[in-house]
Amino acid sequence: MKRFCARCGADIGLFESANLGNLCLKCYMEVHKLSEPPRTISLTICRKCYSIKLKGRWQAVDLSSEDSTTSKLTQAIISEIERLCKLKIETSLTSREAYRLLSGEPITIKATLSGKVHPALEPLITSKDIEVKCDFSLCPTCLKISGKQFEATIQLRGFDEKQLEQIKFMVNKLIVDRSGGSHNIQTGAVWEEVDGGVDVKLPTADIARRIASLVKRHFKVQVKESYKDAGWDKSKGRPLRKLTILLRSRNT
Ligand SMILES: [Zn+2]
Ligand SMILES: [Zn+2]
Repeated sequence: MKRFCARCGADIGLFESANLGNLCLKCYMEVHKLSEPPRTISLTICRKCYSIKLKGRWQAVDLSSEDSTTSKLTQAIISEIERLCKLKIETSLTSREAYRLLSGEPITIKATLSGKVHPALEPLITSKDIEVKCDFSLCPTCLKISGKQFEATIQLRGFDEKQLEQIKFMVNKLIVDRSGGSHNIQTGAVWEEVDGGVDVKLPTADIARRIASLVKRHFKVQVKESYKDAGWDKSKGRPLRKLTILLRSRNT
């Protein structure tokens, strides 16, 4: 008995009629929007903090842990390949490969189909080499810090050395936690000693408010907030207003 693809009329076998819903492999893939895995993919990575841009969002990479860096990169590669071919795949990366990738070297990986997959799809991906490259760019935080576009400043006044060290430690921890390990006080803020205290310059007003409330919780302070117009914010299409929060110690 002759069998034909229900969509294009091509000759098909028993296998297709039983497993692919009477479609030839080509039509099956078109109907399910599957395509062959790409030969090359590139990941967008921040050249300063190594955050990865995935599906339009920047995701933190915790460089202090080799395992988490490697697994984050592996996930990013899988998600990028799956986005391009709509097939569920698996691959693994060694920490050495992750390191090479982050230092700008392309690597070649092998991917396999994951889970229970149609045998007809196996040849599409098994033993296929996929080249992975990095496109280096700057994440929003690094862009602001390197361009000195701070949205907010915290002025710490009247604290002694020891208190300032405590605050610096808390601010660092907050930035590390909030950024998932991508940033710390050196890469996510500017800590500047000035006459009478310290100015902490920050990329967003949000992080400044969090720092202010943290300091308020631990020290007796007098708080004064003010805004200053600072031109036009092209990215948001509205006037740029810079926030200053003055935190003056009441203990001195
Ligand atoms: Zn067909
Ligand atoms: Zn960055």
